[in-house]
Amino acid sequence: MTSLRDRLQQAQQNHQAIGHFNISDLVALKAVFAAARELKVPVIVGLSEGEREFVGTRQIAAFVRGLREEYDFPVFLNADHTHSLAKGLEVAKAGFDSIVFDLSALPFEENVRQTKQAVEALKAINLSMLVEGEIGDIGSGSEIHETAPDLSKGLSTPEQAKQFVDGTGVDILAPAVGNMHGMLKSMVEGETKKHLHIDRIAGIKQATGAFLTLHGGSGTGDDDFRKAIAAGINIVHINTELRVAWRHGMEQALAQHPDEVVPYKILPPAVDEVKRAAASRLMLFNEKWHVAQGS
Ligand SMILES: [Zn+2]
Repeated sequence: MTSLRDRLQQAQQNHQAIGHFNISDLVALKAVFAAARELKVPVIVGLSEGEREFVGTRQIAAFVRGLREEYDFPVFLNADHTHSLAKGLEVAKAGFDSIVFDLSALPFEENVRQTKQAVEALKAINLSMLVEGEIGDIGSGSEIHETAPDLSKGLSTPEQAKQFVDGTGVDILAPAVGNMHGMLKSMVEGETKKHLHIDRIAGIKQATGAFLTLHGGSGTGDDDFRKAIAAGINIVHINTELRVAWRHGMEQALAQHPDEVVPYKILPPAVDEVKRAAASRLMLFNEKWHVAQGS
C-alpha cells in the first residue's frame, strides 16, 4: 500500500487533487469510502477535534485501517484542525496519516515557533505522519453562516508562506487564498460561489514548493477549483457540503420510513445522498485535464 506522501506526489504530477472529507459517523464514512472506491481515486477522511471526540480517536484509526487493509484501497486518515500538542500526540500514537496542526490564530512569529516544536515532537513519535501548518485567516466553523466574515486582511503572501514552511519544516501548507470555512445560505442554495485568488496560489506554490491544501472548499465554483488545482493545490477539504447532504439524506430517509425502527434499513438513502455529494467533488478534483489549463 502506498503512503499519503506518494499519493500526493502522484496527484501533483497529474495536476489532480486528493479530496478530503470530514465525517462524524458511519453514514458519512461509508458514503465517502464508497464514492472513492467507485471512482477508483485516493481519498482522505478527516476528523476535527470535535469530530474525534464524538467518534473516538483510536476507534476511527482502527476502522479506517480496516477498510484500507480489507479492500487494499488508498483511504487515508487526517486529524483536522488540531490546536494543541497534547491532541496531536494522541493522533500520532493512534497512527493517523496526517495532521492539520492549526495555530493560525496566534501571531505569525509565535505560530512559526510553536508549529516547529510540534513538527519535531510529532515526527519523533510517528515519522511517517505528514504535518500540515496553517497561516492566515479563513474563518472558523464548517456550518451555515448568516454573514460573510471579512477575511481580506488575513490573505497569505508568498513571502510569508516561504518563511513559514522554511521556519517550521511542515510537509503541507494551508494558505488563506479567498477560501473560507463554512457556507453562506446563498451558497447552499447555489446562488453565490466563493472565489479564489489563483495568482496568489501560484505564487505561494512557486515560493514554497510545498504540498498545498485548500480548506473551506464547500461552495466554491467548479472552474475556481480547476484553476486552483492547476496552480498547485494538492488537497481540497469539503465539509459543509457533506454535512448539508447528510442532514438532507437523514430527513428523507426518516420520512420514507415513518414506522421503521431498524437503523440499517432506514439509513441507506442517507448514505447515498452523502455519497453523491462526495462523488461529484471527487470527479472534479481528479479530472485529468487540469494540466491543459496551465496557470
Ligand atoms: Zn479547515
